Amino acid sequence: MGDVMQALTRDDLCAWMNRFASAVLAEQEMLSDLDAAGGDADHGANLARGMAAVAAGLPEMPTPVGSMCKDIGLVLVDTIGGSSGALYGTIFLRLAQAAGLSAPTLDLQTLARGFQSAAQGITERGGAKPGDKTMLDALFPAVLALRREADRGCSLPLALSLAASAAEEGAQSTRTMQARRGKASYLGVGSVGTIDPGAKSTSMMMRCLADTISR
Ligand code: ADP
Ligand code: MG
Repeated sequence: MGDVMQALTRDDLCAWMNRFASAVLAEQEMLSDLDAAGGDADHGANLARGMAAVAAGLPEMPTPVGSMCKDIGLVLVDTIGGSSGALYGTIFLRLAQAAGLSAPTLDLQTLARGFQSAAQGITERGGAKPGDKTMLDALFPAVLALRREADRGCSLPLALSLAASAAEEGAQSTRTMQARRGKASYLGVGSVGTIDPGAKSTSMMMRCLADTISR
């Protein structure tokens, strides 16, 4: 194994959350502009508010990585608001469930199961499937990449980097999709031509995770 990192520690989880909070803050306007095309132009502000609350709360969160994921999910549900709050919250609540609350770290198998369960949970909550132009179009390709790489025993940094690339491609692919869920769906064919804001932010979240682990 050498010095290749094979599991996400509490420090890594904090670094991931801080990195994502900074990225969202820096790209807040771009995310809201994407949301202006079909929604109500608040996705950047919603997520920036949520991630700022997470970043501020990290030092007081319980130590096992599993319960920390649960706390992060609850903060996101409480502070993002809108449809994406419950959905972003679901990602971390499902990671917590997959790991177990007392889990000290998250390894690749657990991340693969957790993100897979997160994608399922988002579908259960919001009814969207891949192809409906939502955050799932970034998350689902990442889940497939994690599953594939976990099954062939890939290293954690490489698997996360491949998952981030898959999420970015997935987000780009929403440009030609017609929205079938969320506020943008009211536009019908008018929603074609822009990237879905939630897919874009989800790909940023996955890239931040990969960058945290590749150091
Ligand atoms: P709101 O739609 O309440 O204004 P946001 O603007 O913060 O919330 O988030 C919008 C994003 O949420 C969309 O771009 C999409 O990715 C995601 N989203 C909305 N509804 C759903 C749904 N039913 N399933 C999956 N993702 C959804
Ligand atoms: Mg919105």
